[in-house]
Amino acid sequence: MTIFQRIIVGEIPADILHDDGHCIVFRDINPQAPIHLLIVPKKLIPRVGEAAPEDQTILGHLLLTAGKVAADLGINSTTEGFRLVINNGRAGGEAVPHLHVHLLAGRPLTWPPG
Ligand code: AMP
Repeated sequence: MTIFQRIIVGEIPADILHDDGHCIVFRDINPQAPIHLLIVPKKLIPRVGEAAPEDQTILGHLLLTAGKVAADLGINSTTEGFRLVINNGRAGGEAVPHLHVHLLAGRPLTWPPG
């Protein structure tokens, strides 16, 4: 089981903002911005590069959920804004082998990222 599966089944506590049939959203334990959420599919897809054609609906659902949660937090606007990040593989910064979308907001985010 990945650490995120343990959160999904309630074995490990998390600050959960959203939970539906397909994904869960909770606060990152080591936030890199004032708002740092993780949007995690309940299906174990290790990383986006290993997603399959049948995962198309869930992949789209993750992005739609990001927009919905951002709207709930009042940051889904062109002035406020937020950033979505998916780390894939070691060089991409992936630490947890369970696909997740980072949602970062609440401070100016520079480009390019580190
Ligand atoms: P990544 O480097 O893209 O794999 O991101 C993994 C993220 O999971 C990191 O930002 C961690 O801080 C976060 N994380 C690890 N364990 C937990 C946990 N128990 N609750 C919340 N976030 C976690």
